[in-house]
Amino acid sequence: MKPRVLVTRHVYPAAIAILQEHCIVDYQDTYEVMDEARLGKRLQHADGVVCQLTDPLTAAVLQQAPKLKVVSQIAVGHDNIDVAAAHARGIVVTHTPGVLTEATADLTFALLLATARRLPSAERFLRSGEWRRWDVDLLCGSDVHGRTLGLCGFGRIGQAVAKRALGFGMRVLYSARSDAPADVADALQATRLPLDALLRESDFVSLHVPLRDETRHLIGVEQLCRMKRSAFLINTARGPVVDEAALVAALEEGLIAGAGLDVFEQEPQVHAGLLALPNVVLLPHVGSAVTSVRSLMCALAASDCAAVLSGEAPKHPLVVRR
Ligand code: NAP
Repeated sequence: MKPRVLVTRHVYPAAIAILQEHCIVDYQDTYEVMDEARLGKRLQHADGVVCQLTDPLTAAVLQQAPKLKVVSQIAVGHDNIDVAAAHARGIVVTHTPGVLTEATADLTFALLLATARRLPSAERFLRSGEWRRWDVDLLCGSDVHGRTLGLCGFGRIGQAVAKRALGFGMRVLYSARSDAPADVADALQATRLPLDALLRESDFVSLHVPLRDETRHLIGVEQLCRMKRSAFLINTARGPVVDEAALVAALEEGLIAGAGLDVFEQEPQVHAGLLALPNVVLLPHVGSAVTSVRSLMCALAASDCAAVLSGEAPKHPLVVRR
């Protein structure tokens, strides 16, 4: 009998076509998000699941899925999945690294530029009909070219952002648990520093670490206090990497100059303090939101799910380094 696969939410059609070749597909073709109770129930007879970062694949949910062999996530981040619980049960977890790297790096740089040069404020100003004439100090922002960019996390996306920074004549610093390969650091002219030193020296701090226990609130009051008053924080990683309440306080007190955020602690809710601040650019988690990229991510997740259920090796199994 063909294996059964749950597709938890609306996906690009390529994914369904791939799965239908090998599996019986239980497709929840809506944008609705299932809570733990509904997801657990829906997984009772599933051999595989193609899921998204909105799906809470907790240990409790996985426990309700006795036949489950594979969890295929349409994202590179996987903080919504209890990977340790899955692995303990022999369930393969796959994700979609690489294919979204350049799109997310583009968005990170767009957000950095938009924040430094106050693009949303400038556009709102024009559309509101307030623009009367060119003034010497109208909507002036901060330099990007020649400034120092501190990358917290220097994996695929961090390095791709560094590549863009070189074109802007920026000095690139990074913090990570280990040195990048020498050829990579040389090519990107990137210097590794401890996080505290990076925070002190950077004009832009951009976050590219995965969300894990040790990176939750990596940027809190102490770290924000170490940053320059003229510096900007950019977050396209995961919301809980930043203590949002501490960030709001820092912005209100002028401890840093501004922030560009694509991700939030309680998505889709955004801290009211952030919404009230003019020096913050806020985006609804659109880091990899390019049609071709998202379509490919859906197809990759579906292929890996089908591969595991056909007894083959998946292309992107998750191996978590502790
Ligand atoms: P990656 O290649 O695995 O890079 C992650 C980097 O973080 C690695 O260099 C890793 O280095 C470092 N790291 C891990 N734990 C750390 C710690 N405690 N302190 C300092 N550095 C640490 O992942 P990626 O593909 O670049 O993606 C990064 C994250 O971006 C994803 O996990 C995801 O959450 C987020 N993302 C967001 C969007 C969006 O739409 N906004 C899109 C794509 C990805 P070591 O392991 O060597 O320390």
